[in-house]
Amino acid sequence: MKYDAVIVGCGPAGSVTARFAAEAGAKILIVERRAEVGVPVLCGEGVSQKVDHFKVLEGKRWIAAKMEGARVFSPNGTKITLSAEYAGNETGYVVYRDIFDQELAREAAQKGAEIMLNTCAIDLLKKDGKIKGIIATHFDETLEIEANVVVGADGVESRVGKWAGIQTTLKPYDLETCVQYTLCNIDWGSPYCDFFLGKQVAPGGYVWVFPKGKDVANVGIGILASLSESGKALHFLDKFIATQPELKNGEPLRVITGADPVAEPIQSVKDNLLLVGDAARQVDPITGGGLMHAIEAGKYAGETIAKAVEKQRFDTQTLSEYETWWKNAFGKKLHRNYVAKEIMLDMEDKTLDMLADSLKDYKFEEFSTLSIIKALVTKHPSLLVKLTPLMKLARA
Ligand SMILES: Cc1cc2nc3c(=O)[nH]c(=O)nc-3n(C[C@H](O)[C@H](O)[C@H](O)COP(=O)(O)OP(=O)(O)OC[C@H]3O[C@@H](n4cnc5c(N)ncnc54)[C@H](O)[C@@H]3O)c2cc1C
Repeated sequence: MKYDAVIVGCGPAGSVTARFAAEAGAKILIVERRAEVGVPVLCGEGVSQKVDHFKVLEGKRWIAAKMEGARVFSPNGTKITLSAEYAGNETGYVVYRDIFDQELAREAAQKGAEIMLNTCAIDLLKKDGKIKGIIATHFDETLEIEANVVVGADGVESRVGKWAGIQTTLKPYDLETCVQYTLCNIDWGSPYCDFFLGKQVAPGGYVWVFPKGKDVANVGIGILASLSESGKALHFLDKFIATQPELKNGEPLRVITGADPVAEPIQSVKDNLLLVGDAARQVDPITGGGLMHAIEAGKYAGETIAKAVEKQRFDTQTLSEYETWWKNAFGKKLHRNYVAKEIMLDMEDKTLDMLADSLKDYKFEEFSTLSIIKALVTKHPSLLVKLTPLMKLARA
């Protein structure tokens, strides 16, 4: 078995990488350890309408509901409303993530990529220290799959990077522990994705309610692993649901647990190797949303692989075009949001209430980190010291 690239993981990052590389003529194999693409769903299923720009999904079967924007509730209930345009990566559509992932994979296959399910990468294949492909198990067989490029699109638990000597271990401080119910028999009925903040609600994270229809919604919580003991996330989520009259009579259709990296991105390129999506920690450190970045980075990765195949050069220098692309597109934003995450973690609930109060009537058509900070500091000069590092990054 010999390919231009073997992609480990058939999530959004893997499928989109495969699609763009295969479309340009590269011979691509995706290996996926699951028996069905996108199943089980481990996601709040919120995605920005920006996904439409990438033209990677046909039809509308993957859309559960279209959102008008987001509402953020501070600890005392003060509400900030953002339109879909400014609401970040998780607001625009609430999707059926299983269909979403399968449609992305179908598009990759249509462009010529091969997909092997029930196939788990267990190590890199190396010759004289050089990466030459992967070793994988497929049912009872162990296979050697040769490729000029190995792509680690293997999600939050990624091991591909580690096998290549990249430091991928996540500290508890950089990991959100998540639990989510899909609740039916509720009466939410809002066209907004809702976020609830506060130390009593979700320490170091937030509760989300993403409606999939009038009486169904994903209701989940992410709390920082360093601030929580085992089982705490579920306790906080159940407590939240019990306080909401529109949710408390809900019945679960699905319950999931998972982890979400809220770290700074890591090195994503080595000779004969690329990391994409959660494997490269391309997740927004404030919201934990990673779908849009997985898709955007997947496009750059696929196009870079296609060019490398054309030149028959697979060294770090050639593949670095990918890293330059995604860092220019959203790398700075990830760093800035990591700094913002640290500042927010340090804030008391009353400071969050004060921020929300200042922003509740803010005109979000002027939305930029710098303009928001300026508005906050004008109203609350005491925040200047806390927000200075962020202001410097926003100006850079
Ligand atoms: C509870 C929760 C809620 C979330 N909600 C949102 C949200 O609402 N919006 C949003 O934008 N983001 C959300 N995220 C984050 C989002 O799910 C990820 O950013 C996104 O899935 C990243 O895509 P990916 O392709 O990089 O990784 P994944 O989607 O995780 O895909 C990785 C794939 O690799 C496969 N794999 C792993 N190891 C191997 C191996 N050794 N061999 C073969 N296959 C392997 C896995 O089975 C998987 O299919 C959420 C995350 C969690 C945990």
